Amino acid sequence: MSDKAAEDSLADTRDLIAHEVPHGLNRRSFLMRTAVGGAAAVMTGCTASPEEKTAKAAATIPVTPVPPAAPPLSKDLDVVKKGAGPVMTTVDEFYKVGPGPSSSHTIGPMRITYDFYQRATKLPADQLAKATKLQVNLFGSLSATGKGHGTERAALAGLVGNEPATVDPKFLDSLRDKPDQVFPVKLGSKSIDVSLKDVVYDATKGDFKHPNTMTVKLLAGNDVLLEQEYYSIGGGFIEWKGYEPPKKNAPKYPFRLMKELRAHADNNKTTIGKIVLANEMSISGKSEAEVYAWVDKVINAMVATVKSGLAMPEDDVLPGPIKLHSKAATVYKRAMDDKFQADRGIGVLSAFALAASEENGRGHLVITAPTGGSAGVMPSLVYALQEVRKVDHQKVREGMLAAAAIGYLCKHHATLSAAEGGCQAEIGVASSMAAALVATAYDAPNEVVENAAESALEHHLGMTCDPVAGYVQVPCIERCAFGAVKAWTAYAIASNEIASRHRVNLDATIAALAETAKDMNSKYKETSEAGLAQSVVLC
Ligand code: SF4
Repeated sequence: MSDKAAEDSLADTRDLIAHEVPHGLNRRSFLMRTAVGGAAAVMTGCTASPEEKTAKAAATIPVTPVPPAAPPLSKDLDVVKKGAGPVMTTVDEFYKVGPGPSSSHTIGPMRITYDFYQRATKLPADQLAKATKLQVNLFGSLSATGKGHGTERAALAGLVGNEPATVDPKFLDSLRDKPDQVFPVKLGSKSIDVSLKDVVYDATKGDFKHPNTMTVKLLAGNDVLLEQEYYSIGGGFIEWKGYEPPKKNAPKYPFRLMKELRAHADNNKTTIGKIVLANEMSISGKSEAEVYAWVDKVINAMVATVKSGLAMPEDDVLPGPIKLHSKAATVYKRAMDDKFQADRGIGVLSAFALAASEENGRGHLVITAPTGGSAGVMPSLVYALQEVRKVDHQKVREGMLAAAAIGYLCKHHATLSAAEGGCQAEIGVASSMAAALVATAYDAPNEVVENAAESALEHHLGMTCDPVAGYVQVPCIERCAFGAVKAWTAYAIASNEIASRHRVNLDATIAALAETAKDMNSKYKETSEAGLAQSVVLC
């Protein structure tokens, strides 16, 4: 033992940490208690053996029951199976336009009921003639927080024939303001009346294949004519029982990992964005112009959400019980008056994120990047680069593709669903994507693009999802601003450090995201049962 350790029993903790943590105890509190016990022994001149310390410390700690883990995702889900093959996601699947506030709780359910409606129209005429009722049942997180997200309105909108990209947000607002409206749904010669009453908030807990499970049925009295179980798997992506992914062409540069993607880019002396472009073209069969046309659509929609958010009156109050005041325009105006340029930069970048995120909170059209809750992060950087810094448009396009690749990898190996992985899967992934966007837009080497993306994701690991009252407002709106600023910080560090000394690679951090998602207490996965959702009292 060193002299220092001889003077201070806390200086050498080896005999404390060498002991097994007793079953049922939390390691951190155990070590804290044993250390405190040791300090007390020194102060009172009373010595105890490590074994005695262990026994005493253990006796003082209440045994915390280990909360039940959320049921594991079913192995049947394509989102689980395909982690083994190359990334096949394309940019038009990934960046989706649709109504906020949550891609998994609004865009996904609307796509699901629209899909069911299309299937129902294909039933034989004699069966349709018997139909009397359409019914949607929401389970798991969709049921636990769906009310705050307007899931029932989104589900009804899909059932009456609306698609997320084209639905008029005013229609969704009208469902909120006049919830008793009844709509006829035409199925063959039959017309069935549907209303919000046909969307049932069912069991919040159970043995579901995915935490965002729902069923849709077409009934003839008590007989089921057609029934389908669906899963809203995050980012507006959907699957259903028996789902087979659409057939796609092989990617030109197959990759499963960032390491492989970067190797393609480095070996071909090109950028990550260009490799992604080549893959988009080979997987979808689209031309370069067609891929960029979609990317431009997304860029323009992102710019539009920031603009419309900034244009909202400063006294606007967002829908829902929180009565949250809009702050984007105020933050923007005041930040522009900041004395120091650096403060102005952080302030206005935050204001852009707040603006797009508040649009999401209003249920207006947003772009999933990767989700609705995180829909303020990427637009703020796109706006800053293109509209403020006037960065070359082609570099922003490439940045959007590099950012998409980060999202694909997170979806491939971890999750984009807060119901599965908490907020690290939404804002964390968004921030990581945004860091790759900025680095690419500034023509940083591929290594720096990866390092920036890694850094932004790393510093969101473990972040929980706890929306107050189930509304995607608190903490979500400000969290988008933090995600944007962290993305810029990640780029600032990655572009100024010695890139080869960056110690952690993106693949390792995505693996940590997946593991953390599995271990996270289910209360923190978009259930509003813990965290801020419990501690914030609404008056
Ligand atoms: S806390 Fe994060 S993950 Fe949860 S709803 Fe808000 S933005 Fe989405």
